[in-house]
Amino acid sequence: MKMNLKQLFDLVGERRSFRETFDFGQEELYGRYPFQSPVECSGEIENRAGVVRLVFCVKFSLDLVCDRCLEPFCREESMEFSHILVQKLESDEDEDYILCPGGELDLDELVRTDILLELPGKVLCSEDCKGLCEHCGQNLNFGSCKCEKKEIDPRLSVLSQLLDSMEEAPESSEICEGGANHGSTEE
Ligand SMILES: [Zn+2]
Ligand SMILES: [Zn+2]
Repeated sequence: MKMNLKQLFDLVGERRSFRETFDFGQEELYGRYPFQSPVECSGEIENRAGVVRLVFCVKFSLDLVCDRCLEPFCREESMEFSHILVQKLESDEDEDYILCPGGELDLDELVRTDILLELPGKVLCSEDCKGLCEHCGQNLNFGSCKCEKKEIDPRLSVLSQLLDSMEEAPESSEICEGGANHGSTEE
């Protein structure tokens, strides 16, 4: 969705507010499509003393699956962002600015990028999610299971298997059998 902001760039004191909804249903994230309902966005753009600033907030819900207990859940999110808009970049230092060539702002691309950068790489249903029992698969958030509490650390059990197999290995040393290399020199 392109917004024409030419007038805003040209007129000091100009101000425009907007309200949009975006469909990010095709956006793949966490191996699924979590934007099952539209993203609501409202914001304001203002030219104050020649500096054009965009401020907007977004509200949306995400259909997610917990990375730890694999339980589906829904999370309401609201975020606020602010950017300086420019029609062209003057130097490398301006790279935080949002470029609007010819006074056009690609709003949904900006909103999409802002949201995706803000979301965490992993999702948990809650900070203290207890996850699944690695033996019986019970979701430990719903109650404890009957598995024994004291288990051998799986890494240690691998190590003890390795030690067993090493002891069983034959200790034959036939490496040098027929070995002809006794330092003989050739004519
Ligand atoms: Zn969880
Ligand atoms: Zn268990």
